[in-house]
Amino acid sequence: MKSMPDRIEKLCLAKGLKMTEQRRVIARVLSVSTDHPDVEQLYQRASKIDPRISIATVYRTVKLLEEASILERHDFGDGRARYEEAPEDHHDHLIDANSGEVIEFFNEEIEELQQKIARQLGYKLVDHRLELYGVKLKPGEK
Ligand SMILES: [Zn+2]
Repeated sequence: MKSMPDRIEKLCLAKGLKMTEQRRVIARVLSVSTDHPDVEQLYQRASKIDPRISIATVYRTVKLLEEASILERHDFGDGRARYEEAPEDHHDHLIDANSGEVIEFFNEEIEELQQKIARQLGYKLVDHRLELYGVKLKPGEK
């Protein structure tokens, strides 16, 4: 999800994380990303802004932000850890099995159904993750 370019930075400051110049660059790259990048992609984008940034710094920063619940980590089935800013509003993901493109969606019926299933099993739902994997329909295909 894309948000204000300095949102992650602000969350970091609010949580008392020290913001170095390099962390700030990485935080900004994350805030403006809409595609759930992995560490390699983040590194490429961040090092375009500041060539001194190393992939190790990107790894460390991402881990720190994940531990602070500022970032959410996803595994979309290709073995790469992908990241996005922890969204303010919940959404789920559909992953194009061919291109790897990630599409965000929200469906009220699915949300309610999950609550219902949890309740029937004697639980109050506190979180869930849902990933759909699909291939694009060909024209005329149903
Ligand atoms: Zn997302």
